[in-house]
Amino acid sequence: MTLGTVPASRRRLDRARDYLAASGVGALLLVKTENRRYVTGFTGSAGLALIAPAEAFLAVDFRYEEQAAAEATACTVLRGGRDPLAALSAAVAGRSLGTIGFESEFVPFAQVTRLREKLAPAELVPLATVDRLRWTKDATELAAITRAVEIADAAFAHIAGVLRPGLSEQAVAFELEMFMRRAGAERLAFESVVASGPRAALPHGRATDRILQKGDLVTLDFGAVSDGYCSDATRTVVLGAADDRQRRIFDVVLAAQGQGLAAIRAGASCRAVDESARSVIAGAGFGDAFGHSLGHGLGLEVHEGPRLSPQEDAVLEPGMVVTVEPGIYLPGWGGVRIEDNVVVTSDGCRNLTRAPKELEIPLRG
Ligand code: ZN
Ligand code: ZN
Repeated sequence: MTLGTVPASRRRLDRARDYLAASGVGALLLVKTENRRYVTGFTGSAGLALIAPAEAFLAVDFRYEEQAAAEATACTVLRGGRDPLAALSAAVAGRSLGTIGFESEFVPFAQVTRLREKLAPAELVPLATVDRLRWTKDATELAAITRAVEIADAAFAHIAGVLRPGLSEQAVAFELEMFMRRAGAERLAFESVVASGPRAALPHGRATDRILQKGDLVTLDFGAVSDGYCSDATRTVVLGAADDRQRRIFDVVLAAQGQGLAAIRAGASCRAVDESARSVIAGAGFGDAFGHSLGHGLGLEVHEGPRLSPQEDAVLEPGMVVTVEPGIYLPGWGGVRIEDNVVVTSDGCRNLTRAPKELEIPLRG
């Protein structure tokens, strides 16, 4: 470590402490895996982190006691055996925390009830915005996302050479997924979408046993995870020569994506970015056929904030990573979606996704 640098674990604890101070609570309880991992460094699937102004506790069950001690080096790790909440309760007994904020969008009601009982007399306060801690990414996170995007790009290059009439959607999905794992993905970011022919009208059509036909539109939406961070890319292709309507709709979606990408910069409102792409699709007469948001944040979760959506009040900041994925879906005909992953910069964005946007896949043989 060079002089003047602060370890990521310390920076993130500081960020959590700034957040709890701004929220007016005495401590912050993290139950959601991604938030707990982000703030403490602990990558296990269960545990309770409690961040207070001068202390940070991580209570885990028997399975994770050693792992937590190795990973959460800036926290006091509480070895919770079969009951981490009892361990946390004992550790904070006698401290006057006053109020403890918790992730109200995530923690189930039954767990809130147990937490209230065991952490009394501290009062539990619902906080809906804890995930915002993770919205802007640091260099380590950007490196992981870039690697995940590179794996997805390589997978698309591979699958473009494999796609042909006669394959099933499931066979294509399996090939994509195997490639990503072999290329170093620790897991898939989500269940891959392979939607062909009229099924391409399903924005999240999972792969079925449908056999690809010459002239089909095929939408592929897939992503890899590297060091916990996700990529999420979509390409739509035609097997062989595209007809006029396929070409026309593809061109509209591509133009909409271009407008969306051009609107992204620090200081731009998420709503305005959505609108810039949406207006292209509406202007071409397909406004009703684009029924989802333009994009979403990307990080430890494949869908996180901020959303590029008409309902999102947030403003973009440098270091945020978002998807840009306009689409047109016409029931009975098919659909087109194109999705890239970009990092917001002070004067624009850096597009991490390099996979080509070419509509036609030439048929061989
Ligand atoms: Zn996607
Ligand atoms: Zn997406």
